[in-house]
Amino acid sequence: MNNYIVFKNISKKYKETEALKNISFVIKKGEIVSVLGPSGSGKSTLLELICGFEKPDSGEIIIDSENLEGKEPKDRDISMIFQNYALMPHLNVYENISFGMKIRKEKKKDIKEKTLWAAKILQLEDVLYKKPKELSGGQRQRVAIGRGIVRNPKLFLMDEPLSNLDYKLRMETCSEIVNLNREIKGTTLYVTHDQEEAILISDRLVILNKGVIMQIGTGKEIYDKPKNKFVAEFIGKTKMNFLDIKKESNKFFLEEIGTIETDKFSYIKDGNYILGIRSEDIELKNDSNIKGNVVGSVYLGGEYITEIELKNKILKVKTNKDLSYKLGGTVGISFNLDKINIFDQNTNENLRRD
Ligand code: ADP
Repeated sequence: MNNYIVFKNISKKYKETEALKNISFVIKKGEIVSVLGPSGSGKSTLLELICGFEKPDSGEIIIDSENLEGKEPKDRDISMIFQNYALMPHLNVYENISFGMKIRKEKKKDIKEKTLWAAKILQLEDVLYKKPKELSGGQRQRVAIGRGIVRNPKLFLMDEPLSNLDYKLRMETCSEIVNLNREIKGTTLYVTHDQEEAILISDRLVILNKGVIMQIGTGKEIYDKPKNKFVAEFIGKTKMNFLDIKKESNKFFLEEIGTIETDKFSYIKDGNYILGIRSEDIELKNDSNIKGNVVGSVYLGGEYITEIELKNKILKVKTNKDLSYKLGGTVGISFNLDKINIFDQNTNENLRRD
C-alpha cells in the first residue's frame, strides 16, 4: 500500500497556458500530503483533474491501484472539503452530516451510527440539532468535514478548508485534522497557499510553481534544504537573505563587504553565485570582518528582527535583544557555515550537497 495514490506524469494545458507540467508524486495510505504554491501555480487544476471535472492532456491518476481515467466524478471514491462549507441552512447538524448517506439510500441504522460517530469525534454532539446559522465558523467547518468522513472515502481532498477561520482557530483546526486523519485512517490531499498551515498539517509537502513541482519533502527538509531559490524564498515566515558572492578557492567575497572562509564548498567551482542564509543563522559578532549598519529592529513576539544594511542590501537577522538603541551604529555579523546555501545564478538551483 506504499503508493496508494499515484500521480504519474500529469500535464494539462489551457490554450497557451501550461497549468501543470509533468507532475508526478505519490501519497501513501494514511498520509496527509499538502500541495502548496502561490496563486496560479496549478493547485485548482490538479483538484479538478482528481475530481474528474477536467481531463489531463497526458498522465495518469491512480487511487488504490485503480486508474481514474474515464471515471465519472460521482464514481470516484473521493470526499471533497471546501472552504465554503456549503451546508444546507434549513437542515440541522445531524441532517447535514447524514444527508449524503440518505441520498445514497444507506440503511437507517448505519446512517444513525455513522452520524453519531462523526459527531463524537468532531465534538459536535452538543449542537446536533442546531442549524448552521447558530454555529461558530469552526463548528460549521467541522460539520462539513463530518459530511466527508461518514463516506469513508479512499481520498479526502481538502481545498483551503480553513481560510474562513481566524488565525487561532485555523491553527487549532489543523491539529484536529491531523488527529482526525490518524483516527479514521484517512488519506488526505490538502491544497493551500498558506505555508504555515501546510507545514503544520502535512507529513509531506509538494511545492508547486507555475505548474512545475519544485520540491517534495517534509516541512523540515524543505525549510532547511530548499532545492532552489524559489522554495527558499517561498518557505519561511521571514524571507531568506540573499547576497551576491564571488567564490575563489575557499573564499567567498561578498561585494566589498567582507569575506567568508570555508572549505565546505570545495565541490563548487569558482565563480559568481548567490548566497542564501536564514535570519536565525546569522549572528552578531563584533570581531567579524563583515560589518553593517543597524537600520531597524522589529519585535516579533519572543524575538526581534534586526535589520542590518550591508552596502545596498538589508539583511534580516533574528536576535533576542532589541537593538534599536544601536540604530545607525555598526555591527559585525557572522554566518553559520553549516546553514549556508549557494544558489546558481542562472538555474537558481541550490548547489549545497549535504
Ligand atoms: P491555482 O489554483 O494554484 O491558483 P490554477 O490551477 O487555478 O492555479 O491555474 C493555473 C494556471 O492555469 C493559471 O495560469 C490559470 O490562469 C490557468 N487556468 C486555470 N484554469 C483555466 C481555464 N479554465 N482556462 C484558461 N486558463 C486557466
